Amino acid sequence: MDAWGERLVSEHSLGAEGLRSLLTSCDPDTHTWLRNKAAEVAQCHFGRRVYVRGLIEVSNYCRNNCYYCGIRRDNRLVHRYRLTDEQIMGCCEEGHKLGFRTFVLQGGEDATLTDARLVPLVSQLHERFPDCAITLSLGERSESSYRALYDAGARRYLLRHETASPTLYAQLHPSSMSWNNRIECIKTLKDIGFQTGMGMMVGVPGQTVEHLVQDLLLLQEIRPQMVGIGPFIPHSQTPLGGHPAGSVDMTLLLLSIIRLLFPTALIPSTTALATLSPEAQMQGILSGANVVMPNLSPADVRRSYEIYEGKAAFGAEAAEGLRLLAEHLSTIDYEINYDIGNYKEEI
Ligand code: SAM
Repeated sequence: MDAWGERLVSEHSLGAEGLRSLLTSCDPDTHTWLRNKAAEVAQCHFGRRVYVRGLIEVSNYCRNNCYYCGIRRDNRLVHRYRLTDEQIMGCCEEGHKLGFRTFVLQGGEDATLTDARLVPLVSQLHERFPDCAITLSLGERSESSYRALYDAGARRYLLRHETASPTLYAQLHPSSMSWNNRIECIKTLKDIGFQTGMGMMVGVPGQTVEHLVQDLLLLQEIRPQMVGIGPFIPHSQTPLGGHPAGSVDMTLLLLSIIRLLFPTALIPSTTALATLSPEAQMQGILSGANVVMPNLSPADVRRSYEIYEGKAAFGAEAAEGLRLLAEHLSTIDYEINYDIGNYKEEI
């Protein structure tokens, strides 16, 4: 088999040359081999079981203007909403009854999501659901804010690095946004003790294989506990709306490589994959992913959190569609794992 692939499997690390070789390989046997090895590694640590995390999209107001994102500040056509504390608590109540033991509060960088509001909210959630993990994904904040949220009981934080290249970052974001600051935030979160998630979009305009190699090297340097990647999907009301979506095959290949680099990491098979096709999400599991994040947001706001067009939020992507998700998983001989599913170095 491919010598670089063998090395990746045995050493759980790989340099630029090996990564470049795997990412440019056109040999379908190499892809299949990597996928099977990745699934084997995931099964060895987690069995044929996939963690579910309830995703609550708390606000689609955002001060940022990312060129790819449908909820960017300058998209005047999006219907803006923000959930109240009571609504968020209600989503968690509902999710807890359904069996969820992780709640992911995600949102745009909404000025009203201050520490004064979030810290008591996180404390309340932590007290009300002591058997659950609270994950936040609320963008770039100060170190003191991250610490306060950790002290209030949040234990995981998702902040994709988006790209390891400052140059590509500058092509995807306005100059008011800083690649350095984003990376510093990620390092700070990890230092504080958060199980930290990084990741990137696959096939975002301007991205080359070399950029993806740099992404994989950065992941190996920072070693996050969670890695979320998904294909770029265009949104017509954004500057990058005219570009094609990222490749499902490349996303699956990257998932396999990431699983082999990080055998015990928490790796979602993302909604973006599910949006391109439900089979692609199951293929993600068969490429080493071990998490799915069904949508727990109130049904009437789900359409408004449209970061890309056609975002899946109903059916098996919805919390109330867990039965459908279980059915999809059963077609590949997997099942839902309702455990809290904290990251463990070795399981
Ligand atoms: N504001 C928070 C942040 O910056 O991390 C969380 C919300 S943000 C919308 C979550 C993620 O959505 C981003 O990190 C980005 O990778 C992804 N995303 C945004 N627009 C996308 C698109 N058009 N296609 C695929 N993923 C997209």
